[in-house]
Amino acid sequence: MVEVVIQENSSLKHKPWFNHPENPERVRVLAATLARMGFVKYGFTRVEPGLDESIRVAGLIHSRDYIERMLEDSKKGRVLLDEDTYISSDSVELALEALYLSYKTALEASGIRFLVIRPPGHHAGRRGRTRGVSSNGFCLFNNAAAAVVGFRERGFKRIGILDFDVHHGNGTMEIFYREGILQIDLHQHPDTLYPHTGYPDEIGEGEGFGLKVNMVFQPYTGDDSYMRALDYAENIIEEYNPDSLVVSAGFDGFSGDGLADLNLTEASYYRLGSLIREAGVPTVIVLEGGYSRGLENGFKAFLEGLAGVARRYPQTTSSRNISRLNEMVNRAVYEHALKRFGR
Ligand SMILES: [Zn+2]
Repeated sequence: MVEVVIQENSSLKHKPWFNHPENPERVRVLAATLARMGFVKYGFTRVEPGLDESIRVAGLIHSRDYIERMLEDSKKGRVLLDEDTYISSDSVELALEALYLSYKTALEASGIRFLVIRPPGHHAGRRGRTRGVSSNGFCLFNNAAAAVVGFRERGFKRIGILDFDVHHGNGTMEIFYREGILQIDLHQHPDTLYPHTGYPDEIGEGEGFGLKVNMVFQPYTGDDSYMRALDYAENIIEEYNPDSLVVSAGFDGFSGDGLADLNLTEASYYRLGSLIREAGVPTVIVLEGGYSRGLENGFKAFLEGLAGVARRYPQTTSSRNISRLNEMVNRAVYEHALKRFGR
C-alpha cells in the first residue's frame, strides 16, 4: 500500500524572506496534485517530538558541533548559511521535526510511505557541507539518513538507498560511504551540475566498497537513455535483494523544472515508481528537490507507478552522442556493481 504523509509544520513554515525556489509553494503544488488524483491515501501530520528527542536522532547522523552551530544560528532569526541555504526563525526546529518523522516512519512502515517534508536533506553531510562543495544546497539535516537509522534500529540488515534527485546526494553518500549499504545515485553528470561530486569511480570504501553506485547523465538526456540505466539499477537492486529501501525523491530532472538540464518526462518517473513498487519491501521515500513542472507532472507519474496504475507515457529521445556517452559509462558502472555480488 502507498501512503503519502505531509508534514504540515516543517513543510509550510520553513520559508525564505526573498525569492527562492525552495519554498512552501512546492508543498501546496504537491497537495493539490494529490487531491486531484484521489486514488493514493494521503494526509497531513504534525509530528512534534521534544527538542531533546529530535537532537538525539540528529546526533546519530550529524556531528555534535554541527547540530550546536545550527541551533545557535537559528536563534539569530534570518541567516544565510551560504549562497544557497537559508534559515528563518524556527527553521532548525522544523528541520529537526522532518528528520525525526523520517526516522519514526522507518521504525513503523510496512508498505510504501512517501514523506512530503521540507527542507530537503541529501546534501547535508555529517558536518553539513561536505566534500569540498560550496554550499549545503538548501539542506539542513539528512532525512534519508534518518530513515536508514530507523530501519537499522528495527533490525533490517540489507538496506538499500536510491537517490533519483537530479543532483548528486553528496551528504548521504558521505555518511554511508564506508558502510555496507547499497547506494544507487542517478544524477546529471558532475562536470555539469552542483554539487560536482558523484563520479562513476566513487564506489565506496571498506565495508562499502563496490556498494556505491553513481550513474551519470549528460545534459539533455531524454527518457530513452535514462530508462536504460533504470534497467541496470533495477537489476542491481534485485541482485542485492534489499529488506528495506530508502528513496530520495527529487523531481528536478523533469524537463524544464528549472535548476538542471535533463530532458526527462512522465515516462521516467512512472518507471521509477514501478521499480520501487516491484522491490516489494518496506520503503520510506523522502522529498528532495523539484521546483516547478517536476512537482506537477513528475510527481503524479511517479505515484501512478508506485501504486501500480496502468499507464503508457511517450518517451523523449536523446541524441546518439548523448545515448552513447551515457551507455558507455553506466554499463561499466553496472557491470562493476554486479561483480561486487560475486557474479
Ligand atoms: Zn536536486
